[in-house]
Formats: sequence, C-alpha cells, structure tokens
Amino acid sequence: MTERTFSIIKPDATERNLTGKINAVIEGAGLRIVAQRRIRMTEDQAKTFYEVHKERPFYGELVGQMTSAPVVVQVLEGENAVAKYREIMGATNPEQAAEGTIRKLFAKNVGENSVHGSDSQDNAKLEIAQFFTEDQIVG
Ligand code: ADP
Ligand code: MG
Repeated sequence: MTERTFSIIKPDATERNLTGKINAVIEGAGLRIVAQRRIRMTEDQAKTFYEVHKERPFYGELVGQMTSAPVVVQVLEGENAVAKYREIMGATNPEQAAEGTIRKLFAKNVGENSVHGSDSQDNAKLEIAQFFTEDQIVG
C-alpha cells in the first residue's frame, strides 16, 4: 500500500553537506520525496517532536543537537514507506546498522545519527502535521 512517512535529515548531516547523498539513498530505494524544506528547528519544536523521550537521559542532548544547525524535514511516499525507510535508515546506533544503510554510511554516533524516520503510520501522520500542511505535499 502506498503510504507516507516523515523524515528529518539531522544537523550532523546538513553540516557535512550530506543532504544530496542521503536523498540519493532515499530515491534509490524507490521512495519519492513529496515535500521537503530546510529549517532551523526551534527548541519548542524539538521538545514537542521528541516529547516521548523526555524522561530519557539523552533528551536534553537530543534537543540541543536538533537545534544546533539546520535540518531538512521531508515527507516520503511509497509502498510501505514507514517500514521501508526504517530499513534503509539502519539501526539507531550506527555500530549496529547494516551495510549500505544511511546510518552505516554516514552517522557519527548513536546521538548524531544523521536521520529520523517515523516508527509507525500513526506517528508519521502526527509528525508530518507538525511540519507540513496538506497543500505543501505534492505526490
Ligand atoms: P530512532 O531515531 O532510531 O527511532 P529512538 O526513537 O530510540 O531512535 O531515539 C530518538 C533519537 O534519540 C535517536 O535517533 C538518537 O538521535 C537519540 N538517541 C537514542 N538513543 C540514544 C543514546 N543512547 N544516546 C544518545 N542519543 C540517543
Ligand atoms: Mg524513534
């Protein structure tokens, strides 16, 4: 089934000029980038986005990292987009990520791991709505 997922190219990647290389992996896997915008994430946006992790010890570091440099927020569309993107992103910790995945190729460490991808269709809808209106998504 064609569905959408939400992606963020994180500060560690935009700082190293990796947006194009990451987009090439996304498009090479058959996912279509149907919306994309480069923004500076505010502290409020980052806190809201990662609210599920607010009790975790790395929450402050995570919010600090996400607001440290521009990010690219994206909507990806394709067959089983949520699961497919999680697969090509690779494991959260790049040391455990499979060969050829974005995190294996580009991530610096478990915190600065280059990309975010939604973990369920429900979260994808909520995350997309935090950053895009429906008219900004052109499938
Ligand atoms: P994922 O991004 O793979 O869905 P999580 O939802 O578990 O991973 O965590 C969200 C983000 O928090 C991660 O992508 C990473 O940037 C950061 N993070 C997760 N675990 C750690 C950790 N142990 N130390 C530092 N940062 C972490
Ligand atoms: Mg997650």
